[in-house]
Amino acid sequence: MTKPAHPDYDVVIGLEVHVQLRTESKLFSSAAVTYGDEPNHHVTEVCLALPGALPVLNGRAVELAIRAGVALHCKIHPASIFARKNYFYPDLPKGYQISQFEEPVCTGGYLDIPMNGGEAKRIGITRIHMEEDAGKSMHEGTSDTRVDLNRSGVPLVEIVSEPDLRSADEVGSYLKTLRQILRYIGASDADMEKGQFRCDANVSLRRHGASELGTRREIKNLNSFRFAEAAVRTEIDNQAQLLDEGGSVIQATVGYDSDADRIFVMRTKENADDYRYFPDPDLIPLVVSEARIAEIAAELPELPADRCLRFQEELGLGADEAQVLTGSRELADWFEAAVGDPKSVRNRESAGDPKSVANWVVRDVLGALNERDVEIDAVALAPEGLATLVRMVDEGRVTAKSARGLLAEILFEGGDPEALIQERRLEALSDTGELETVVDAVIAANPEAVASYGEGDKKSVNFLMGQVMKKTQGKADPGSVREILARKLEG
Ligand code: ADP
Ligand code: MG
Repeated sequence: MTKPAHPDYDVVIGLEVHVQLRTESKLFSSAAVTYGDEPNHHVTEVCLALPGALPVLNGRAVELAIRAGVALHCKIHPASIFARKNYFYPDLPKGYQISQFEEPVCTGGYLDIPMNGGEAKRIGITRIHMEEDAGKSMHEGTSDTRVDLNRSGVPLVEIVSEPDLRSADEVGSYLKTLRQILRYIGASDADMEKGQFRCDANVSLRRHGASELGTRREIKNLNSFRFAEAAVRTEIDNQAQLLDEGGSVIQATVGYDSDADRIFVMRTKENADDYRYFPDPDLIPLVVSEARIAEIAAELPELPADRCLRFQEELGLGADEAQVLTGSRELADWFEAAVGDPKSVRNRESAGDPKSVANWVVRDVLGALNERDVEIDAVALAPEGLATLVRMVDEGRVTAKSARGLLAEILFEGGDPEALIQERRLEALSDTGELETVVDAVIAANPEAVASYGEGDKKSVNFLMGQVMKKTQGKADPGSVREILARKLEG
């Protein structure tokens, strides 16, 4: 745990996260959900709020919202109500946003977030409600404001946390864990650069040990992990300074200028919005049967935290590697395909040893992915191919060095490692007779190194090893070479 920057105060943070659901069409219209297309090319009369146009609820969006609720251990309500949230804004043609207010689809769940040191902290989830996104006002390159309604009506869930977070680090951990889960269950791509996962952070301070919550300020629209943490940190510093100077926090909605690392006030409570929520008479209550809810729950894939534990218990991995390997569902799937089913004896022959495969994936595969800044889907080598390579290394049929060289070549190109190893004669030199000949030649060619070894410079054996490796193009088994060298030099 890092020491709190302001020991006189306890920090209290609750997050509201807006998540774009992964649907083909909008929440109440058949217009396509797209990104970066020509403005106003994906709108219907519903998106435009033409008179008489009626909303029709997208069933897929409901299913994804329920998935999120189940994954976050919420109560899923068989009946929920859509309401009108009224405000005037150019990118909102109806003059109201359809949202859920008093009766949302999910309430009362939690999210366990990993903390420094390995243990987890449980953060309460107050509610998850469905709502539609607004359009986009554009100001670039013109003195006018232009409106793009492609985004208008895109389905969102808003996930509201209890005020359980206590630091900027916890905010980062919460957001990362939440995004990971939403991606695992296919509820959202949660691409922050495309605005599919954005966060409002409510921050307050109270005297250390006090039980009443302090007055909060809400930082709007944080769209990267880094900015969210930085904004919260800055806001905490600001409030602490204000309180230290004897001032009091005035409830406000604020924004974060990341270039200047500065918080600015957008509006204070005195002119807070009054949305005049009321049930939308165009929409009947959203009713989902208990059977359907159970079905959606049963179809959920294994969640990352469970998978991480299973990798430790079933495959014997360390906590850190298990965490890395379950970072995304795609990576975990790829790794598991390389490992094969550990319970199946039959598959063991074609699969790799879990610990070895884990090492190779974490070090070599992820290393290469990071270098290119790509994800596991960029890999062309079949997971079984990596398994074969790792097994050949473990069996001493190829050296780690040769295997690493080959892997670098075929990871993004694909290929059959066993065939390539044969074709290129990369098999490890394990025949000691052959190795002895090479060692003899190296000793004969390097009398100075041999002499300095004799004079007590034991490090010169490394030089000789290097020469053997060079002569064998890295195919000699290092252990055997060391053994033979030691025997010949001492003898
Ligand atoms: P609103 O919808 O007006 O923003 P809510 O009561 O729904 O207000 O709260 C929104 C978020 O603010 C929730 O995540 C909640 O946990 C958090 N929150 C409420 N009070 C505080 C407080 N005093 N300090 C920090 N966070 C708070
Ligand atoms: Mg709010």
